[in-house]
Amino acid sequence: MALHKGSERHDVRTVSVNPFYGEANPVGGMTEAPPTHRLPDAPLPPSTAYQLVHDELMLDGNARLNLATFVTTWMEPQAGVLMTECRDKNMIDKDEYPRTAELERRCVAMLADLWNAPDPAAAVGCSTTGSSEACMLAGMALKRRWAKRNADRYPSERPNLVMGINVQVCWEKFCNFWEVDARLVPMEGERFHLDPQAAVELCDENTIGVVGILGSTFDGSYEPIADLCAALDALQERTGLDIPVHVDGASGGMVAPFLDEDLVWDFRLPRVASINCSGHKYGLVYPGVGWALWRDREALPDELVFRVNYLGGEMPTFALNFSRPGAQVVAQYYTFLRLGREGFRAVQQSTRDVARSLADRIAALGDFRLLTRGDELPVFALTTADDITSYDVFDVSRRLREGGWLVPAYTFPAHREDLSVLRIVCRNGFSHDLADLFVDDLTRLLPELRRQPHPLTRDKGAATGFHH
Ligand SMILES: *Cc1c(COP(=O)(O)O)cnc(C)c1O
Repeated sequence: MALHKGSERHDVRTVSVNPFYGEANPVGGMTEAPPTHRLPDAPLPPSTAYQLVHDELMLDGNARLNLATFVTTWMEPQAGVLMTECRDKNMIDKDEYPRTAELERRCVAMLADLWNAPDPAAAVGCSTTGSSEACMLAGMALKRRWAKRNADRYPSERPNLVMGINVQVCWEKFCNFWEVDARLVPMEGERFHLDPQAAVELCDENTIGVVGILGSTFDGSYEPIADLCAALDALQERTGLDIPVHVDGASGGMVAPFLDEDLVWDFRLPRVASINCSGHKYGLVYPGVGWALWRDREALPDELVFRVNYLGGEMPTFALNFSRPGAQVVAQYYTFLRLGREGFRAVQQSTRDVARSLADRIAALGDFRLLTRGDELPVFALTTADDITSYDVFDVSRRLREGGWLVPAYTFPAHREDLSVLRIVCRNGFSHDLADLFVDDLTRLLPELRRQPHPLTRDKGAATGFHH
């Protein structure tokens, strides 16, 4: 979570209290303004406390206009009811809540089937708080497998992980936290994600694995997982190096199985050892759930799995957290049961349709060049056309905020630092109607933007947040 500093003036700042709220205070009649940065001395009545917190949160944004985030912002009321019913269930307490544990197991089995595990009964997996935790677990499994195979060189030599420079920040975290060198394939020309040959050239005997991303965070494009596996097969033939692949399917893991059935990216490729996805992205569940799966027990070294009996039972677990809410896992099971394959296909197809038509309409305005078209993930990136000199993507992002639209602008990494883009993430709930409103707003801004003498956004970092 954000690393916060304590308040320097905690004795001065207070929460302002509407005099109406004070009535509920049985003692003093009027509620005294409670401090914001230290515990108040005395309790407040629940209705007053509720109103104060509620009022403060009104200033948060409208998530439906947020085209920056991948994370689910709408679920059906029934899912909300189930989550409320489960909010006191602790996921780790498998003995007290065996049915919740069973629903988690079923979700893993469904994903093993969806991702074509050759023997679904042999596949193992778990829920996590999101893809980041799932990637930590998958990376740890890769590292441990490599260390066991190379006991003669570890720890004297440092392991490395090969991936595109477009990886999500969780992979940089993994490498930092677990002391693994990140070997990054840079972008080149109009290639904005990993190139299989360039990846193979970075591999050596200390490579614990290669990460392929199904759905790049930067532009929504799928990385060529099958070509990557083929290039690694060829490497093995040449050198004997047998390097496993992890697929980061944070978004695409719940898109490709429904919309791109012919695309071979999953456990059908023998080299794919593990896959993760975010249940709270295109898995259509509120924030707080991800999944990690390994093709078989060999891919997940058993010594990483813990069996504790403090809470009764002896359920094996693999996780960074101990206690965790069960509601999201229950909501994931609900979503699987509710939609089935046909339902998921329909929902994801309509999201992709919105993305593709929005991309086409933005391209037709003439001021922009599309880098991607929303035909893989329902996500696309665009930049200003070459002849646009009066404004840049940061100006567009800043001006769109006036209408409540959150569209991040950011620069690309090496070797395309020269390129700045806007990214639009379409999610379930972003309808054709909202897309119409968005195009109207953007169209209305263009004449003013074109009249600018030059790009105007000075503080480019502050103008626009880049949300993964
Ligand atoms: C979002 C994302 C992550 C991190 O997922 P969280 O569920 O937010 O932790 C990892 N990899 C990719 C490709 C992503 O898009």
